[in-house]
Amino acid sequence: MSAIGILGGGQLARMLVLAGAPLGLRFSVMDTVADACAGQLAPLLVGDYRDERVLQEFANGVDMTTFDFENVPADSAEWLAAKIAVYPNPRALAVAQDRLTEKTLFRELGIPVPDFAEVSTREELEAAIIAVGVPCILKTRRLGYDGKGQFRIRSAEDVDLAWKALGEQAAAVGLILEAFVPFLREISVVAVRARDGEFRSWPLTENWHVDGVLSASLAPADVAVDMEQAAFTYAQRLAEHLDYVGVFALEMFECEGRILANEMAPRVHNSGHWTIEGAETSQFQNHLRAILGLPLGSTRARGHVCMLNWIGTMPDPQPVLREAGGHWHDYGKQARAGRKVGHATLRTDSRDELAAALLRIGEALARHAQVAPVIESLSHAFTIVRQPEDGLFAS
Ligand code: AMP
Repeated sequence: MSAIGILGGGQLARMLVLAGAPLGLRFSVMDTVADACAGQLAPLLVGDYRDERVLQEFANGVDMTTFDFENVPADSAEWLAAKIAVYPNPRALAVAQDRLTEKTLFRELGIPVPDFAEVSTREELEAAIIAVGVPCILKTRRLGYDGKGQFRIRSAEDVDLAWKALGEQAAAVGLILEAFVPFLREISVVAVRARDGEFRSWPLTENWHVDGVLSASLAPADVAVDMEQAAFTYAQRLAEHLDYVGVFALEMFECEGRILANEMAPRVHNSGHWTIEGAETSQFQNHLRAILGLPLGSTRARGHVCMLNWIGTMPDPQPVLREAGGHWHDYGKQARAGRKVGHATLRTDSRDELAAALLRIGEALARHAQVAPVIESLSHAFTIVRQPEDGLFAS
């Protein structure tokens, strides 16, 4: 029986543990906080990722390690890799940790990206705004996630505000200025690469974000075949270049008939949660199969699926659980503003049935202030909502 170590003990680790049980796996999780939610399901070691004593203790108990959190210091991943197998490899982790390195690599690999420029000083920011144009987004190169560490620049006059917001970070984590993409929608490829190089993608997922945080995903996305093929090709090219092993996500914008890559997540991804019930093999199961050297499972979708993220607090589960294809995931976390505390998945055989199920759930949850925007954004996307004057989704 293999023992798998997971660096980071959040909901991704928790779902990896759940997926690993049928494979007979044991897990050990490391996190910096004692209430990390994967600790409810597997032994949890609490410590700093830079503390070699704790890392050694972690390594002693496992055969290989993987990540639930991509901002584990790449040096710590390297240190571990000298002792045990680490998947994905520390280089892939390092590339994904730095938006500038990542976008530069995408460009080198022929993967289209929005215009971007490195920014280290205020003068460079002014020059970058001229080069990239407005509107644009100033982002920290490192340690940003879910829209944190970002400032939207609407005109050249915003330079003061932008520098005030993020200038201090220039020395610590570096900055990158990116052209703002007036995207039609956001899509992601969730894919897996095995130790022997076999590559599989789940059908493309369409994603909605609210304030930079994923609120809902729909799969399979209704995307033109050539665009879908291009997305798979880019993901495979990237995975092969990085000799990547395991699941990863490539987040992209669809804009004017093209796709532009935004970022890569070197781990199982929120936009792939739908695969638990909506695909033949889930992203969590295939990640474990990949790192263990087991055959990959089929990534075929089972019908039409929608995933709704619960942010801040869990709503009443009844409306989802009443649905034939309704599934509930409570991560066992304390409620806290902005925190991902759970999700629901709805699976149906047709898109019409999915739309009808969403309407029923939307109606039932409409009084829940945090939930209404999620249902609303989905409903808009489906163009199934009755007119706002019906008050269907009024919160
Ligand atoms: P990120 O942390 O880069 O994933 O950004 C979080 C969210 O901000 C994305 O999912 C988009 O909704 C939005 N965003 C980020 N970069 C851009 C961009 N260059 N143009 C338009 N929207 C963006």
